[in-house]
Amino acid sequence: MHRFFVDPDCFVGDRVVLPESIAHQIRSVLRLRPGAAIVVLDNTGWEYEVLLRQVDRQQVVGEAVAKRPCPNEPTVQLTLYQALMKRDKFEWVLQKGTEIGVTHFVPLVTQRSLVQEVDIKEGKQLRWEKIITEAAEQSRRGCIPTLHAPQTLAEALAAQSAQPGLIAWEAAQGLTIRKALEGGERPSRISLFIGPEGGFAAEEVAAAQAAGLQSVTLGKRILRAETAALVAAALVLHELDVI
Ligand code: SAM
Repeated sequence: MHRFFVDPDCFVGDRVVLPESIAHQIRSVLRLRPGAAIVVLDNTGWEYEVLLRQVDRQQVVGEAVAKRPCPNEPTVQLTLYQALMKRDKFEWVLQKGTEIGVTHFVPLVTQRSLVQEVDIKEGKQLRWEKIITEAAEQSRRGCIPTLHAPQTLAEALAAQSAQPGLIAWEAAQGLTIRKALEGGERPSRISLFIGPEGGFAAEEVAAAQAAGLQSVTLGKRILRAETAALVAAALVLHELDVI
């Protein structure tokens, strides 16, 4: 069944009026007809089975016939602090990170980031949000991951609190993600920092360690930044998410 995220205020009781972007897709791209079933998600963790009741040029309206909590959200909230990279690589991380189970994306400006923009233009922000939303629909997420405004590494480190945090560093000796996370209570939130193409500077890693992050290795081979992000996110969720 096709899945669509909508604002909760699209619902009035059991009736849901789909916004024009989704209505267009249902009417003109998928060519669904009244009686067809879709899944609508309100981005609060609930999913609704909806039967289409009206499909025409004016509007597309459905009736919710079942409501259930979406079972597919990770049981741990993973915030990925990803150093900004060239557009296609960064977008790939947003899409695949959403599929894997990242909850928050924070674009990071570091010393060696090729892209140093702290202000993201509105068009780019909308494009990134669309990539994340479509990946969330495709991968059957219950909530759309949040895309935060870019932060400098210093800002991001200042915001770390009691939750555990990891920084992937190719010079880390021996501490794997599994070892870093074993023992102790399972956290409900965790931060993961991935550097840019040129890597983190040694003093950036020292600052992260001083802020309480553990520097972890992803193995003996050097991964491209976008590969490292997805491998590390998958390893963290493999260790902490209850399936
Ligand atoms: N310029 C660095 C070098 O040549 O050694 C490589 C940087 S790597 C392409 C980009 C980012 O991916 C790093 O900052 C780190 O966060 C992560 N990364 C890649 N391979 C890694 C590994 N084997 N262990 C830990 N982190 C790794």
